Amino acid sequence: LPLASRKPAWLRVPARMGAPFQGTAGVVRERRLVTVCEEAGCPNIFECWAAGTATFMINGAQCTRSCGFCEVATGRAGPLDPGEPERVADAVAALGLGHAVVTAVARDDLPDGGAGAFAATVTAIRRRCPGTTVEVLVPDFQGDPEALDAVLAARPDVVNHNLETVARLQRAVRPQAGYARSLALLARAKRAGSTTKSGVMVGLGERLEEVLGALADLRGVGVDVVTVGQYLRPSAQHLPVQRFWTPEEFEALAEAGRAMGFSYVQASPLTRSSYHAREAAQGVGTV
Ligand code: SF4
Ligand code: SF4
Repeated sequence: LPLASRKPAWLRVPARMGAPFQGTAGVVRERRLVTVCEEAGCPNIFECWAAGTATFMINGAQCTRSCGFCEVATGRAGPLDPGEPERVADAVAALGLGHAVVTAVARDDLPDGGAGAFAATVTAIRRRCPGTTVEVLVPDFQGDPEALDAVLAARPDVVNHNLETVARLQRAVRPQAGYARSLALLARAKRAGSTTKSGVMVGLGERLEEVLGALADLRGVGVDVVTVGQYLRPSAQHLPVQRFWTPEEFEALAEAGRAMGFSYVQASPLTRSSYHAREAAQGVGTV
């Protein structure tokens, strides 16, 4: 059977590409921007774009890494586009976003890992849309604290960095990253006073205790907001889905997370790192 037909009913999303969706698509296209919504094949694109929300992916559409779960293309990344920060800010203004989420491909080829462009984008959004809160979903910058500090210096409202999976599966899922390195990044952002956010996927073969262990580790470094969603295999070249967790299991994970002391937990099959990000930021009192 094709993959899609094996998906449980709770993961099937109707395709809706009406005028509100097209409006968001137009704002993105006219400014030649890249979105993770499209590049990662996010199942929520119909809902988010119809609601006028998108997550911008800066620093190119080609990633220098090749995580086993991720649909973003791997390849030779080109030079940075100096006009991109302003065009992102212009799109935020055009969409009237109250909360903007900016992510990027991992630019391991650049000395600062692309951190400077993050800072420039946050600054451009601030200047253009002073009432908009900004969330950055950053790569690990290969553990370079100076790169992270350059992003933090722009004072994003939320610093998001995903742990992606449990400790045991890191090597299989994100070979160029690491559990301890990601926790260290989140700890450093917290020490600098940021509201921090992270997320994990389930369905890659992890056990419940391992997921709870990962959540406890995130809480241990002071993470405020956590997201948990079902992994979906983008293609036969990506890691297989080992299991579809049920909505009830997600609800139990959410309760466990709240009991650990996270200010906001979003756990559902279709939860993604930037799904309903404004509600999450509001939930933690940041916006
Ligand atoms: Fe885009 Fe995030 Fe919505 Fe997915 S959940 S469509 S990545 S804004
Ligand atoms: Fe995808 Fe990020 Fe991994 Fe690149 S670093 S392959 S964008 S998850």
